[in-house]
Order: sequence, then C-alpha cells, then structure tokens
Amino acid sequence: MQYDHILIRYGELALKGKNQKRFLQKLQANIRHKLKEFPNVTVKRTQGRMFVILNGHDPHEVIDKCKNIFGIHSFSLAIKVANNIDEIKSASLFALQNADGVKTFKVTVKRINKDFPYRSQDMNQILGGHLLTNTSHYTVDVHHPDLEIKVEVRSEATYITSGVVKGLGGLPVGTAGKTLLLLSGGIDSPVAGYLAMKRGVEIEAIHFHSPPFTSDRAKQKVLDLAEELTGFGHKIKIHVVPFTKLQQRIFQETPDGYGMTVMRRMMLRISEQVCRNEDILSLTTGENLGQVASQTMESMNTINEVTNYPVLRPLLTMDKDEIIEISRKIDTFDISIRPYEDCCTIFVPKAPKTKPKRDRVNYYESQFNYQDLIDEAVEGIEVIEITDEKQIKEEVFEDLF
Ligand code: ATP
Ligand code: MG
Repeated sequence: MQYDHILIRYGELALKGKNQKRFLQKLQANIRHKLKEFPNVTVKRTQGRMFVILNGHDPHEVIDKCKNIFGIHSFSLAIKVANNIDEIKSASLFALQNADGVKTFKVTVKRINKDFPYRSQDMNQILGGHLLTNTSHYTVDVHHPDLEIKVEVRSEATYITSGVVKGLGGLPVGTAGKTLLLLSGGIDSPVAGYLAMKRGVEIEAIHFHSPPFTSDRAKQKVLDLAEELTGFGHKIKIHVVPFTKLQQRIFQETPDGYGMTVMRRMMLRISEQVCRNEDILSLTTGENLGQVASQTMESMNTINEVTNYPVLRPLLTMDKDEIIEISRKIDTFDISIRPYEDCCTIFVPKAPKTKPKRDRVNYYESQFNYQDLIDEAVEGIEVIEITDEKQIKEEVFEDLF
C-alpha cells in the first residue's frame, strides 16, 4: 500500500464568493505548473476539494514542491480506496504505522455517502478497535491526539487522510494583478517582492544599473535574486535601466545633500513610465520606516510626490531581524549579502537629507532638463525574462544522483 493522493486545503479562498472559481482555477494551474517535473501527476478538483493524484510518484517529493505554492494553506497525504470496510481498515492501519513519532491517535469518520452500510459512530468504533488490536504501542486520545486519521466516505470512494502539513498560505499568484518591484541587490526588496506575491500579486521587476560604476556581477546578483523569486511564481520580467547618465547629472545639479532625494524621484518617474507601457497598476519597494535617510516620513512624503501610482511597501513596519528571517527562509539572503556595489551606494551623498523639503527639490529639479534623460533611460531599457525552468531542471538533475 502507498499514499496515492495529496489533499490540498486552501483556507480563505473558500470565502471568495463569486470569485472563488477564478481563484481555484488559478491555484490548480499554478500547482500543475510547479509539478511539471512529475509527468504522471494530475491535479483534480471535485466537490469543493482539490487533490494531487500521485500516480506512482513519491508523495514526499511532491509535498516538498507544494510547500512553495501560495494559496495552499495545508495538505495531507491521502489514500483512496473502494467503499469497502476491509479496504478502509487496511488503509487506516497503513496511515497509523507510517506516521513518525506518534503515540496517540484518533479516528474521525465522516459518512457523506449515506448508502454506505455503517454509520459514522459505528465506523469510529470498528476502525479504532482494528488499529488497537493490530498494533501494540498506540493509545487512543480523542482530545489531543498526535495523529488524527480522517476517513471520508464519499459516493465515488473513501479517502483516508492523516496528519496535516502546513502550506505557505496566501493567495494564488496571478489573482491580484501585477506590480512593478523596484529590485536592488539588497536584502529588503526581494523580501518585499515575496510578500507581494504572497497576496496573489504577480511581479515584474525594475533595476537601476549604473555601469561602469556598478559591475556586471552586481547585475547578475539581481538576476539571481529574481530567479529565487520565480520559485514562488512562474516567470519574472526584469527591466534593467541604464541609469548612469541621469544619475551623474543629478549629482552635478543637486546641492545640499538632496541628490538622493532627486535620484529616488527619478527612479519613481521611470518606474511609472514602465508601468504605463506594461499595463502594471502599482509599484512595490523594500522601504522600511526609519531605516535610512530616504525612508523617513519626510523623505517618503517628498519622494512620493512624483507619482500617483500606489506604492506597496510590504516591509514598512517590520524590524530588520524579521526581514532577515524571511530572506533566509526564501534563500535570497546569501545572494543579497554578496559584496557588489549598488548604484545608490556609489552616488549617495555623504550626508543625505533626512528631512528633504518638497519646494527645495522642485526648485533643484526645475534647473535642468531631466525629462530627456528619463526618456533616454526608458528607451535604453534591457528586458530580461527569468523563468523557473532552470530551478525545476536543477532539482531533477540533483535527484538523479
Ligand atoms: P534594499 O535592501 O532593498 O536595497 P535598502 O534598505 O538598502 O533596501 P534603499 O537602498 O534606501 O534601502 O532602497 C529602498 C528601496 O528602493 C529598495 O528596497 C528598492 O525597492 C529600491 N531601490 C534601491 N536601489 C535600487 C536599484 N538600484 N534598483 C531598483 N530599485 C532600487
Ligand atoms: Mg539598498
């Protein structure tokens, strides 16, 4: 006997009323995509349930993949058997004997198919008795069992599920529109992207690159970060903006530690232009209140003045250690701490203003024609598309050895 199904639970998706169908279709498509490397696996929806049908694949390998899919709240291994009491007994025994670290258990039977000759209460007794007589070191605990074995008798078959594995939660990526993530090589912005994806948002990324002051390795770092993020979605289009000319001009033209404020405003202007071209409705940054000079309330007020697009800041109120914890969990931390320079670290004034004034910035900006430089930067954008194919292939390759 072997586990042949995985039952997928999708938590709050159940609350989405009329939209539910769209959410479920997306979740199903995302699961199918992530499980592409298992050729025999199928993903089915039946009567308010979603199942991965393993068709011979190792359940634990498939579960590991499912752990990176937003919209899955938990899952359980399941065995499908005919509506036959002997088969149900053997499957329940298998479930108990194949669970690790279990001393106490409980059987819960739900009889949806009323034609089945045993009532739920009787089944609880029969199965509990069967498990106790065929094993020696388990006891029943109806209140806080180590393992709950659930038996659901449906019209087509009976499903025996055991144990609950926590999923990633959130909503299926692709159900909440698209955002343009300002992706630097730092620790914060990849985490911000991950959290936007958690709420179902699909991302494209924009990166400001200032060669020769920033190297190809700095750019590669950003591509590698984006590739990690594709592990939680499908593909990410990255817009790499040649920023050198505009950046040099900004720092020639802007006195009094205002260079960084102007630079950020230019980043937002360029990002908004990309949103317009790509039909994207919001921006996302890794900004975090009070972390550095550009992230004070006054700075955000002055920088945000240039765009009417919503700017999502998923990290706004987090502590740095909370952000680092997530970056380790999603495997971006080690990439982020590679030592290559970022355009901001190179041009940043020695004493950037922590309370930049809107009227001062507007005055400095009015002193030079930045629009042409913005247009030139937008025209020079290099678009790179990163897919999760490489990740899928690499893992298959590792499995062979
Ligand atoms: P991060 O760790 O994400 O770099 P940070 O704490 O270093 O963030 P800043 O350098 O002030 O903060 O940048 C704030 C935000 O501006 C970043 O989180 C990112 O969204 C955006 N940003 C900064 N530099 C770039 C860049 N070169 N390209 C794209 N976006 C950038
Ligand atoms: Mg940074």
